[in-house]
Amino acid sequence: MNKVIIIGSGPAGLTAAIYAGRANMSPLVFEGIQPGGQLTITTDVENYPGFPGGILGPELMDKFRKQAQEFGATTLFENVDRVDFSARPFKIYVSEKEYKTESIIISTGASAKLLGLESETKLMGFGVSACATCDGFFFKEKDILVVGGGDSAMEEATYLTKFASSVTIVHRRDEFRASKIMQERALGNPKISVMWNSEIVEMHGSPGERGLESVDIKNLLSGDIANQATDGVFMAIGHNPNSSIFKDQLDLNDAGYIITKADSTSTSVEGVFAAGDIQDFTYKQAVTAAGTGCMAAIEAERYLEGH
Ligand code: NAP
Repeated sequence: MNKVIIIGSGPAGLTAAIYAGRANMSPLVFEGIQPGGQLTITTDVENYPGFPGGILGPELMDKFRKQAQEFGATTLFENVDRVDFSARPFKIYVSEKEYKTESIIISTGASAKLLGLESETKLMGFGVSACATCDGFFFKEKDILVVGGGDSAMEEATYLTKFASSVTIVHRRDEFRASKIMQERALGNPKISVMWNSEIVEMHGSPGERGLESVDIKNLLSGDIANQATDGVFMAIGHNPNSSIFKDQLDLNDAGYIITKADSTSTSVEGVFAAGDIQDFTYKQAVTAAGTGCMAAIEAERYLEGH
């Protein structure tokens, strides 16, 4: 029997683990399929307090994990595939293995959205990517496209100019939603150009040696579709919350984010708490995720004291 199980290991989960560890709750952390969360596929993190000059995302998350382990957290490279919150103790399952716990902190974060084209899925890893940090290196001296108009698209496009000969941002509207500073950084980069009012409607190529060869791009104003040769497409169109295993157990909003009570990380089931991007669709920052992770651990501790 565990006092607290933490599902997910981004800034929210590992901050919860640090606090729960210091409260002698011996937290068990299931790290999931992307240990360290989204910051592990980021390069420089310049806005996490305490690191003037910035720090690399993976390095920051290694520090989080180490700090949690110093206070007695056990971290497992396992993915939880089923939960049962219908009775206490709560049960979680990794394949057929069952774990029992008195409280739960969910911090499973969010995952990259894709366009939903069959060809996109087929060519994923063969020229199509949702992670510039992971795959940018493979596109040295190549001509590539980035899809999206938010901060992620600006950040990925700017990062990819370290490798690529040219980066074209394909955006479906005639203005970006990205913050001004990130737009200016991207638009001021001589390697970056923009195709406004445009959408990729098909990708051509074959999985294997040759990979992606070209895409069909539709001009959304004229309706014209033109084929454009390219070596890579990076998707940067937002994220989906990783909440599928909780959908019959907890209240979720229409977009699939876990609903938490005001000024709290409490969910619709007493003793189950949610922190980070799985419940925050407004701020989505590492520092806010860490903040809610801290809240969740304190709330779990108070819940256990009261029961
Ligand atoms: P986002 O702000 O939701 O932007 C998604 C972009 O993708 C939008 O421009 C959207 O177009 C476009 N899009 C969505 N679905 C699409 C589709 N099916 N086809 C074509 N385009 C599509 O997502 P994000 O850029 O990932 O950012 C998420 C949050 O993280 C934001 O709050 C952002 O500020 C934050 N963030 C911060 C940093 C940083 O500060 N370093 C870096 C990255 C992200 P429309 O504009 O037309 O809707």
